[in-house]
This record gives sequence, C-alpha cells and structure tokens, in this order.
Amino acid sequence: MKILHLLRCYDFFSLAIGNLCFYNFTKLDLQPKAMTTTARTVGFQSGERNVFFHILTACNLSCRHCYINISQHGTATLPRETIEKWLELFADPEKKSNVIFLGGEPTMHPDLSHGIAKAKELGFTVTVDSNGYLFHDLLDRTSPELLDYLSCSLDGPDSNVNDPIRGEGVFDICTNNIRKAVERGYNVSVIYTVSSLNIDDLHRMVPLLSEMGVKRFFIQVIGLRGKSAQESVGEQGWQVSPEQWLEIVPAVARQAAEAGIHVTFPKVFLEPGETFECAGLVTENFFIFPNGRVYRCPLCEDYPIHALRIENDALIPNEGLTEDNFFQLNIAEGCVMNKLLQPDTISYDDQGNPDHRISCCLLKQEILP
Ligand code: SF4
Ligand code: SF4
Repeated sequence: MKILHLLRCYDFFSLAIGNLCFYNFTKLDLQPKAMTTTARTVGFQSGERNVFFHILTACNLSCRHCYINISQHGTATLPRETIEKWLELFADPEKKSNVIFLGGEPTMHPDLSHGIAKAKELGFTVTVDSNGYLFHDLLDRTSPELLDYLSCSLDGPDSNVNDPIRGEGVFDICTNNIRKAVERGYNVSVIYTVSSLNIDDLHRMVPLLSEMGVKRFFIQVIGLRGKSAQESVGEQGWQVSPEQWLEIVPAVARQAAEAGIHVTFPKVFLEPGETFECAGLVTENFFIFPNGRVYRCPLCEDYPIHALRIENDALIPNEGLTEDNFFQLNIAEGCVMNKLLQPDTISYDDQGNPDHRISCCLLKQEILP
C-alpha cells in the first residue's frame, strides 16, 4: 500500500489544503498535554466557513506534480468585478470565514491585491497560496494588515532537491521572496509536498525555515493527479510508503516544533477508536473554480460531480448524482472518495477488514512549538 492521492498540493490548494486545518478545526487532545512536541489531531469545527478561491488556472511554472486540470476547470481568469461578486456570495458575517486565494498562481492575477482588500472588507481572514514568485509587486500592493497569511511552496531544502521538481531557479526566487516578506512583517508559512523525490530531505527544511524566520510549516502528501499521475519517476514512483511516512514525517515535525515552528501534517490513518468524519458533512468548505464549479471535497475536483455551481453570479445546487451523495455513505474503509478513486491506498487483513480506516483528506495533525 502506498500513500498517495490523499491530499492535493495546496500551494494553490494547498490541499493546503494547506492552511485549511489551521483555520477551521478545533483541537482534540489525544496525547498528554505536558509534551509540547506531541502531535494532536485537529478536529473539524462547525460554524466556520472556508472558501478556497481559484481566481485563475494559469501559472508561470510547470511543476512535475502539478494537479491543475484545465479540461475540468478551464483557462479563465476571473475579472475583478466577478471576484468581488463571488466573494460577496460566500461572505457571512455570522460565521468566522476564511478565504484562501489560489490558482494556478494567484499572484499572476493583476487584481489580487484588490481581491485581498475586498475580502478583508467583507470580514474574511485572508490567505494567499503562492509558488513564491509574488508577481505584480504583491508585497508592495497589499499589507500584513490586509493579508493575514502568505503561504509559499518549497519542495526541497535547496535547489538540488526543489528545482528538479518545481523548475530551474525556483528555489532561489522563492526563498528570496520569503525572506523579503518576513522582513516586511508578513506572516509567512511554507508548504512542502512530500514525495519519494524529497522525503529524505524533509529534515533539512527545519534549519532553513528557522533561518528564514518562517513560523508555520505545512507538510503535505503528493497527490497523484494531473502530471504526477502520468509521469514516472523511477521504480518506487512518486508515492511514499506508510512506513516511510510514519518514520520520517512525525519526527521532522517534532524537530520543527522544537525549533519554534508550528507544524501541520495530514492525519491519513485513523487509530482504532477514533471517529471518522467526512468534512463534506460537518464543515462548510467551498472549492471554487473560475469556470463556476464549486466543490465541497477536493478529492472530487477532477470529476464533474461538483455539488454547486455559480451561474450569473448566483450559487446554485446541482441536481442528480453529485459529491454530496457520496458523503453520506458509511464504509469500513473511512473516506468513500478515497476508496473509489484510489483503492490501492487501502490494505486488508485475512478476514477482509481494512487494516486502517483512511481519514478525511482534510483532517490534520499539528505540533505546536
Ligand atoms: S505549476 Fe506548480 S506552482 Fe503552478 S499551479 Fe502547478 S503546482 Fe502550483
Ligand atoms: S471524507 Fe473523503 S469524501 Fe468526505 S470530504 Fe473528506 S476526502 Fe472528501
């Protein structure tokens, strides 16, 4: 069994997907509180709203694992007025609301700074997930008062690891811009998408983040979608095994926490006795694409089963078979979409019972410094 597909890369998404867990989940203590470097599951919290807003699908980079799906989400760049109207559609002053601007590369949008200001005016907590290029003088055209969080993606602690995945010269540009943003008072986090190409280098991120002054670190799993589903990278493929993941990721997360960094990483496997919850049923997450599709679950985004659509600037529920129907299904394996889309992530015992239930891809663990 391999770990794959479970999260999308949230540098635009960053299935974040990235910061999502930071905003909308309550902390469930599963371990003794005395140990500050102990991982805690970050449970879903109702009453909050997270809006993952892809304002375009274009990008200046061509990462080897890019998941952008033009055939499903188009090539549109939303006009400024549309960004405003769609933000208004999802604004709810009664709820703690977060918006994460995504792409493609959202800083390629000439009106991103305007969108940030509008979102703040509507009461959102605002994040931009960027590949680190920070086009259109973003740092000058917005401010840490308007932009609450800036997340940048790095897939290696140096150019030798990062650039073969994300592109030549990307490491230097991204790290230079991270340093600039930190100096200017922005709250900067880094997203690292773990794959077989870089898991052995994860530990070297800790000194780099410390040196750059980054206080939050999001560790993601490679999602085998888009290019990573097509491109071969050797015998092992992109995936890491559960053994590799469990041996390396929690240990690095603890090291980072000990260095003063708040770390978040996917839960993936539920322990016996832990409750399975589908975020599609218990949270208000909206993944909006520039062609008007609105999903509730990121694993569904490659398929035309979106629960909602935006038409003439109105939010409309879709009829027929949509992702909502799948959220209701209760199976021993945990996440239904994972079982349907990537059944090879699940192993079974001799009686045919799954060895582990797979958690919702949006469920995270965190270690506080
Ligand atoms: S090419 Fe890279 S930076 Fe651009 S959208 Fe894809 S993964 Fe993100
Ligand atoms: S449990 Fe699975 S189907 Fe439900 S929101 Fe999470 S990933 Fe999607």
